[in-house]
Amino acid sequence: MNANKADLKGTVRQWADHIGVKVREIHLRHMRRKWASISTNGRLTLNTDLLNLPEALTEFVIVHELVHLLVPNHGKLFKGYMSAYLPDWEERQNCLRSL
Ligand SMILES: [Zn+2]
Repeated sequence: MNANKADLKGTVRQWADHIGVKVREIHLRHMRRKWASISTNGRLTLNTDLLNLPEALTEFVIVHELVHLLVPNHGKLFKGYMSAYLPDWEERQNCLRSL
């Protein structure tokens, strides 16, 4: 099932609460190279193409970006948080990369 824009923002809010980070703004726009990006002050931009992906993959993209508010890089700590929040994140990441 695909998400609509309201679902997408709702998912962001739920995960931000769960992780304990502040998302100040959520923007949706078409991006050529990335699924999403986030600034250190909590401005999240999501690619509108996410609306065409299965929810599990969209959720992975959102959690990945939100965890960046805790850890800016993709090091061990980052992976630790990902595993804590989404135990099957690697599977979802592989799935996303194979698209
Ligand atoms: Zn990243």
